[in-house]
Amino acid sequence: MRRNSRSPSAAAWQRLYSTAKWKRLRERQLTNEPLCRFCLDHEDIVVATVADHVIPHKGNEALFFDAENLQSLCKPCHDSTKQRIELGQEVVTFGADGWPRG
Ligand SMILES: [Zn+2]
Repeated sequence: MRRNSRSPSAAAWQRLYSTAKWKRLRERQLTNEPLCRFCLDHEDIVVATVADHVIPHKGNEALFFDAENLQSLCKPCHDSTKQRIELGQEVVTFGADGWPRG
């Protein structure tokens, strides 16, 4: 069950998540990258269950279906990150090379 159906535009995006194309993409992402990327940054090994969009797609189908724009996260990481984004806070993550992503 999704809790974050507060904004009206979220409903419009919802259909994208029910497409077969997305389900294949998500499956492939979690197979290729089975561990949570954020937890790995903190040297924690946690199984990822969410294929998250690195750049918020905001309903943009090109971004939504871009495999390069996906990262694997566990649910707690996904939810806390998304919450911060919704609150309008800047979220900066760092890549393996030590530079901020995005
Ligand atoms: Zn995590």
